Amino acid sequence: MNIKTIKKAIRDVPDFPKPGILFKDITPILDNPELFRATIDLFTERAKQHGVNKIAAIDARGFLFGGAIADRLGIGLVPIRKQGKLPYKTYEETYNLEYGTATLAIHQDAFNQDDKVLLIDDLLATGGTALASAILIEKAGGQVVEIDFLVELSFLDGRKALDKYEVYAPVKF
Ligand code: AMP
Repeated sequence: MNIKTIKKAIRDVPDFPKPGILFKDITPILDNPELFRATIDLFTERAKQHGVNKIAAIDARGFLFGGAIADRLGIGLVPIRKQGKLPYKTYEETYNLEYGTATLAIHQDAFNQDDKVLLIDDLLATGGTALASAILIEKAGGQVVEIDFLVELSFLDGRKALDKYEVYAPVKF
């Protein structure tokens, strides 16, 4: 399947969640079995190339891809969640948003030493969410071998924040 076909299915929703934001809605991909499978194929190929043995997925849309990738590869899945959601001992990382801050958390025992981790989310904007997530993976003992997104908003230059890492994002706006 052509990446252009996947790109065309992403729906623009203006002024969500607030005025001035053009939200890239991936739900039409989830709802189309061929598109969803083709999307998961892209990430599983990357994961195989890197010999990844764990997927880490970012709350909440990263979970939609992460679960399918981990199942396809037959490897474990680690959720990175918003503060206060994980039940066991956590590490936390706070990062800046446009207004205010946000905190993400990971279970302290999520990884074995030297686990090779692919981090997944739906979209790269400024990169703050993914950077905080990568730091959490490292705190918990994992090695971030790649950060994958379906969509990259190139004009926001999120790759700069992630310049320590290999980044893959097949759909660019
Ligand atoms: P950032 O930390 O700025 O890279 O923001 C990335 C996170 O916010 C991801 O989890 C995205 O799902 C979400 N996000 C940011 N901007 C958008 C957008 N324009 N459309 C859809 N999701 C977005």
